[in-house]
Amino acid sequence: MEDRTNKKNLVIASHNAGKVREIAILLEPFGLTVQSAGELGIVEPEETGVTFAENAILKAEHCRDASGLAALADDSGLEVVALGGAPGIYSARWAGPDQDFNLAMHRIEDELHKEGGGKPLDRRAHFICALALAVPGEKTRVFEGRVDGTFIWPPRGNQGFGYDPVFQPVGLDETFGEMDQTAKHAMSHRADAFEKLLTAKPWV
Ligand code: IMP
Repeated sequence: MEDRTNKKNLVIASHNAGKVREIAILLEPFGLTVQSAGELGIVEPEETGVTFAENAILKAEHCRDASGLAALADDSGLEVVALGGAPGIYSARWAGPDQDFNLAMHRIEDELHKEGGGKPLDRRAHFICALALAVPGEKTRVFEGRVDGTFIWPPRGNQGFGYDPVFQPVGLDETFGEMDQTAKHAMSHRADAFEKLLTAKPWV
């Protein structure tokens, strides 16, 4: 019988295998029992929020209510400065129903060229991650993390997932797609948000 009052019995409110894997690795030191929404057969709610934080809250609370357990949701994406922050909260949606990130990365490159109109392109970009922790009987808390970098072209590397091959963090000459994934996990937007979550000591 599951202990529904125990915050250490946690559901990760995601069906994205790449994200669940990264989050599970970041949580390893805390000895939590971690399950994913997919494993519990919880359907993802529609992401109707207009910010990363709103979508993270929506997903975490949906999962908490469906499972009766503490739930952690991540909403994240890539913001390209010259595109006014796009794809932003639409990062997954730009990859279409087949989650084709080759298509999504090409679309960013094409739109940057249109935006630049022959001028040098402003390739600044950042990944944002909002983490929401929804615990039964408690107010939901949100923690936001960020990593700054450059949208590079052509894509490089086949590690990681999503937009990793086109994102080169400031100060490094490898993309997230080329980097050793332990190094990525230590410096990513998700790591930054997790650091803030862990500073709030939710599991001690
Ligand atoms: P959502 O948070 O599930 O709405 O989806 C966010 C999307 O942003 C993911 O599907 C990825 O494409 C992208 N994304 C978020 N974090 C990362 C990352 O660490 N690397 C590459 N792509 C990411």
